[in-house]
Amino acid sequence: MNFNKAEFLTSYGKFGQIPESDRTEIAFSGRSNVGKSSLINKIFNRKSLARVSAKTVTINFYSLENIHIVDLPGYGYAKVAKTEKKRWAGLIEGYLQADRELGLVFQLVDFRHPPTADDIHMINFLIDSEIPFVIVLTKADKLKKTQREARMEALQNELPCADQITVIPFSAETGEGVEEIRGIIEDIAEGDLEGDL
Ligand code: GDP
Repeated sequence: MNFNKAEFLTSYGKFGQIPESDRTEIAFSGRSNVGKSSLINKIFNRKSLARVSAKTVTINFYSLENIHIVDLPGYGYAKVAKTEKKRWAGLIEGYLQADRELGLVFQLVDFRHPPTADDIHMINFLIDSEIPFVIVLTKADKLKKTQREARMEALQNELPCADQITVIPFSAETGEGVEEIRGIIEDIAEGDLEGDL
């Protein structure tokens, strides 16, 4: 799979604008500032496929061969009005609850800190909705080895269903985790191809 070939398709500000899916989708979710844009740019070898730290609340679609990559709006950004927060929640939950061909959600969590209440809310939502997901622990380069081990151990108690969840440490700085994430995307894309044969 050529990861350099991801192309921006469209941004949607309202869930109702999103057309029905005709391809398998892989979504990226996480709180604002978790490193989601940096991760997307790193995975797809681009300087600015996803805009780093853009705070506009949209769902962005990208195409990559036979799949769609879906960048969900970063949640939990403190400095916005309640009505805006409601709109975000409506967008994210509307998307995740819709009957779409959702192959997987990459749920991003900052490796340095315990998951936020919003992170846990999202993870429980994914579990309850039976949406397949993996957790990506971002900014791994910012932790020393001992801090890393301590966070990993703490996550066993902090994450719901921790023993059943795949957890991938990631760094946009060092490239740690890039190949693992690409491998997962490739597996989903190929599974979809097989289904069509
Ligand atoms: P987003 O709001 O989730 O899209 O987060 P961004 O990708 O804009 O990243 C937020 C901030 O964290 C920026 O200053 C990034 O440079 C920084 N950042 C993101 N990923 C990493 C990482 O892997 N390592 C380090 N050291 N900084 C990162």
